[in-house]
Amino acid sequence: MQRRVSLFGATGTIGDNVLDLVARHPERFSIAVLTADTNASKLAQLASKFVPDCVVIGTDAGRDEFLALLPDYKGSVLVGEAGLIEAAQQHVDIVVMAIVGFAGLAPSLTCAAQGGVLALANKEALVAAGPLLMQTARDNGTQILPVDSEHNAIFQLLGTQSGRDLDKMVLTASGGPFRTWTLAEMAQATPAQAVAHPNWTMGAKISVDSATLMNKGLELIEAHYLFDIAPEKLDVLVHQQSIVHGLVYFADGSVLAQKGSPDMRIPLGYCMAYPERIETGVAPLDLAAVGRLDFDAADRARFPCLALAEQAMRVGGAAPIVLNAANEVAVAAFLADGLPFTAISALVADVLDSESSNRPVGLEAVLDVDKKARFAAEKFVKSRG
Ligand code: NAD
Ligand code: MG
Repeated sequence: MQRRVSLFGATGTIGDNVLDLVARHPERFSIAVLTADTNASKLAQLASKFVPDCVVIGTDAGRDEFLALLPDYKGSVLVGEAGLIEAAQQHVDIVVMAIVGFAGLAPSLTCAAQGGVLALANKEALVAAGPLLMQTARDNGTQILPVDSEHNAIFQLLGTQSGRDLDKMVLTASGGPFRTWTLAEMAQATPAQAVAHPNWTMGAKISVDSATLMNKGLELIEAHYLFDIAPEKLDVLVHQQSIVHGLVYFADGSVLAQKGSPDMRIPLGYCMAYPERIETGVAPLDLAAVGRLDFDAADRARFPCLALAEQAMRVGGAAPIVLNAANEVAVAAFLADGLPFTAISALVADVLDSESSNRPVGLEAVLDVDKKARFAAEKFVKSRG
C-alpha cells in the first residue's frame, strides 16, 4: 500500500533527503503536504514535481509568489503558523517533521495528537517540551520514530528493550569543524568556517550547533525524553569518522553499535518504510576504505555548550527550554556576525544562570519560558555583540 507523507520543512536539507527517497520509491510514497518558510520558488518547483494536496508558506507575500510561479496549482495554499497547524491536522500515514528550531514545536504537538507515525527530525521540540510531546503521542496512539541519526541508531539497537534496561547509552559526535582547534582559535572563527561540517551536509543552525557541540547536548536531552533514560546513563564519544552513530551497553558487558555512512537517507528511509527496509541510494559501507574508527572523550572545557546542556538535562523543568531558546538567539546572532563564536556558550551560560527552577506544565507555560529566555538572550547580544 502506498503511504501518504506530509513533509514539514520541505525546502531544507532533511527535506531534500526525504524527497530523494520519495522519488526513488514512487510506488511506496506520495506527498500530501509540503511546507516552506520563505523559499517560495523552491516550494513551487517541489509542488510541481510531487503534486501535494496542500502547501504551506510563511507569509502572504510568499503565497503570492508561489501562485505567480504555479498559477495552475490545484491544491490549497495555506499561510503562516495557522497554516502549519491546519496542515498538521490532515490525516496521513507519516509526517516527517523537519522544520528547524522551536518553530517546529506547535506543529509537532498537533501531529502527535493525530495518531499515525511522526518521524521527528526537529530535535528542538523534544528539548523544549519532551514530556508534553511524548505524553501527547502516547495519549493519541502516535508512534514517534527518531530521524536524528544517533537516536535512529539506538532505536534500531534497542529492539524490544527499553532505555530503562540499559547500563549506558552513548551518542557519537564527529567533533565538528573545530574538533582540534584551541579556544583562542575558536574565538576568531567565522560563520563560513563553522558551517563547513567535515562529514554531514546540514542546514546552517544545526551546523553551528555541531561546531559548538551544543548539537550533541541537545541530542542527549532528546534521548533522555525519547527513550526515558536517566541523565547519568547517557554519554557522548567523539568519533571523527561518523560511521558508528550510537552504542548501547547492557548489564552483561555486551555493547551493540550501529554503523552506516554519514547520509541522512539511511535513518529517513528506516523511518519512512518502518518496519521494512528500502534501498536508499547510499553506497555499501566499505570499512576497509574507512580504515580506522577513532573514539575520544569529549572535551567540555573547549566545548562548554555540551556541559551546559548536560546541566540543563539534570535540572530539567524549564532549564532545557531556556537552554534551547538562548542557543537559538546566540546562533542567529553569530550567523549574522553579531556575536563571536565563543560568546555562544557565554550567552547560554548567562541566560541559564538567571533561570528560576520552575516546572512549566502545558504549551502556554513552555511558550512563556521560551519568550522570556529569548528576551534575556537578546539583551546579552545587544550588550556584547
Ligand atoms: P534547514 O535549515 O536546511 O531547513 C529547515 C526547514 O525548516 C526549511 O524548509 C525552512 O523553510 C523551514 N523553516 C525554518 N524556519 C521556519 C519557521 N519559523 N516556520 C516554518 N518553517 C520554518 O535545516 P535542516 O538541516 O534540514 O534541519 C531540520 C531539522 O532537522 C532541525 O531541527 C535539525 O536539528 C534536524 N536534523 C537535521 C539533520 C541534518 O542532517 N540536516 C540531522 C539530524 C537532525
Ligand atoms: Mg544527530
